[in-house]
Amino acid sequence: MRKIISLLGKPCAGKGTRLRQFLEGKEEQYMVVSCGEALREEVENETILGRQAKHYMDAGKLIPDYIIINLVLNQIRKAPEDVSLILDGFPRTLEQAEAALECEMGITHVVNLVVSDAEAISRSESRIICKKCGESYTQKMFKMPKKEGICDKCGGKLVKRSDDKPEIIEERLKIFNIYTAPAIDRMKASGVEYLEIESTF
Ligand code: AMP
Repeated sequence: MRKIISLLGKPCAGKGTRLRQFLEGKEEQYMVVSCGEALREEVENETILGRQAKHYMDAGKLIPDYIIINLVLNQIRKAPEDVSLILDGFPRTLEQAEAALECEMGITHVVNLVVSDAEAISRSESRIICKKCGESYTQKMFKMPKKEGICDKCGGKLVKRSDDKPEIIEERLKIFNIYTAPAIDRMKASGVEYLEIESTF
């Protein structure tokens, strides 16, 4: 049966890293809808959406719900029926959770990666990501590239995310605790299969 998995967790919980590990060898069975990566691509391409999104992302704030809900719905509609989906970082607010349940997006599982605020802050200090494929490297998790500044996987350039600054990460954690934690509780109460994983590496 087709699965639609919502992957949630604080910033630096390791969503992207876990996702890449999980997908190895299963790439054809799953399609990933990553709101963060889709938005970073829009920013990079300087589209109208990208220009609007940058303003929120650089401040560590969430993008308005109607934009995100449409973005996710469009991706779900585009996906072939027999492919399972992983919604990386959706839903992140109660409104998004209600929309996910009302629009019958068909979410079957919620995976919540749990990490403390202190650990998230510490990981964000050394995190660098690949501009091309999104792979992330963090000294704290003993994962650094073989060649400085170059992605082991695709040879892309490694950069610091503009929202990984200490003051921004604190804002993002605050937003997670205020908006996303209740969204996770709502999804949990809806009866979908719920899995909580302690994010240790
Ligand atoms: P991420 O790559 O998942 O850490 O997301 C990076 C940024 O993209 C977030 O800090 C938000 O500004 C934006 N974003 C990603 N997913 C969502 C969402 N579901 N709702 C609102 N904003 C989002």
